[in-house]
Amino acid sequence: MSNSLVLVLNAGSSSLKFALMDAQTGEAILSGLGECFGLEDARISWKRDGEKQELMLEEGGNHHEKAVGIIVELVESMNVGEQLVAIGHRVVHGGEKFADATLLNDAVIEEIEAMSDLAPLHNPANVMGIRAAMTAFPSLPQVAVFDTAFHQSMPQKAYTGAIANELYTDYGIRRYGFHGTSHYFVSREAAKQLNKNIDEANFISVHLGNGASVCAVRNGQSVDTSMGFTPLSGLMMGTRCGDLDPGIIEFLLKKGWSQEQVFDALNKKSGFLGVSGLTSDARGILEAMDSGHEGAKLAFEVFTYRVSKYIGSYLIPLDSLDAIIFTGGIGENSLPIRREILKNLKLLGFVEDEAGNEAARFGNGGIIAKSEMLGAVAMVVPTNEEFVIASQAEGFAK
Ligand code: ADP
Repeated sequence: MSNSLVLVLNAGSSSLKFALMDAQTGEAILSGLGECFGLEDARISWKRDGEKQELMLEEGGNHHEKAVGIIVELVESMNVGEQLVAIGHRVVHGGEKFADATLLNDAVIEEIEAMSDLAPLHNPANVMGIRAAMTAFPSLPQVAVFDTAFHQSMPQKAYTGAIANELYTDYGIRRYGFHGTSHYFVSREAAKQLNKNIDEANFISVHLGNGASVCAVRNGQSVDTSMGFTPLSGLMMGTRCGDLDPGIIEFLLKKGWSQEQVFDALNKKSGFLGVSGLTSDARGILEAMDSGHEGAKLAFEVFTYRVSKYIGSYLIPLDSLDAIIFTGGIGENSLPIRREILKNLKLLGFVEDEAGNEAARFGNGGIIAKSEMLGAVAMVVPTNEEFVIASQAEGFAK
């Protein structure tokens, strides 16, 4: 075991993912997930030495705090002592304030809390996790790694909405982008694999999971991304609608829908779930398609068509392209979805490497297509956001 272990905490509104990780190699010696917080079946499960365990959390009280308490006991029982050098926290929204990983103190926590109206489901949960960890590990550096940070390099023309400028100056309404840690990781990894200097490498990074986004990476920096002010815009997702005519919101409100109903429909009942009428899960969509489900077929077509259109348009901010990178649960695993997207890109000269595409699944990356015309490849790179958080947090170790 190395001398630098980092505990990575990723607190969601009703969940907490965690990993105790070697910050040099990315190897996790403990990893787990707390879920259903606030509900009666709240629980926490973890894997250690190949063994899985699960504990139900008692009803009542603060489940984030309870879960951190259990994680602390687990870490203490592993006798890692001084090898544990930092705690890394994933924080969803860093606004315009944070373009890099940041050492947490009271002032920084206040800034994160102040940005809660930009990410009402996430930032308060992140702060809860941070406070619980600070109480448990008062002598260790606690570091925030922001989902928005990588996109702070976007030029003004990419982040400015075509709306009254006061909406930006008064409320901070602009494109922020999310999934930054993932786009950062896979672009660096792709540059390594292609023997390219990251400062001269150009990519279109396509993260397809329950949440999905595309990012144009120019000379190693994010120059545009499809998620915006919130993670609702851009691609079609598991339950989120992605890009949508804002006139629809006005129309539904006038039809008597409440704000909550509209919000719920666009965030939780759209995407794969809404179009198919069946499931938000891509695997379920593919299975249903195979047995002739029309809604699932339509969801597959809308999803792949929209991803392909985004990829085409994200050539615009780049002077050249080294690779289209696929990542996230769908991007890393779904052969039919990648195949359909590559087919849609035929005008850009992409020809699928069928064997490569079939091999790049279940944790294996690799080249899946080539375009002679663009001098580019399409490739799969499994993402590892926890590893980025661990290594950036380790940078603050004493
Ligand atoms: P999150 O955004 O919640 O982190 P993930 O990146 O884990 O999500 O992606 C979840 C999605 O990946 C789900 O739609 C799931 O069906 C899909 N997925 C996982 N494995 C496969 C597979 N073998 N084939 C197709 N889709 C898959």
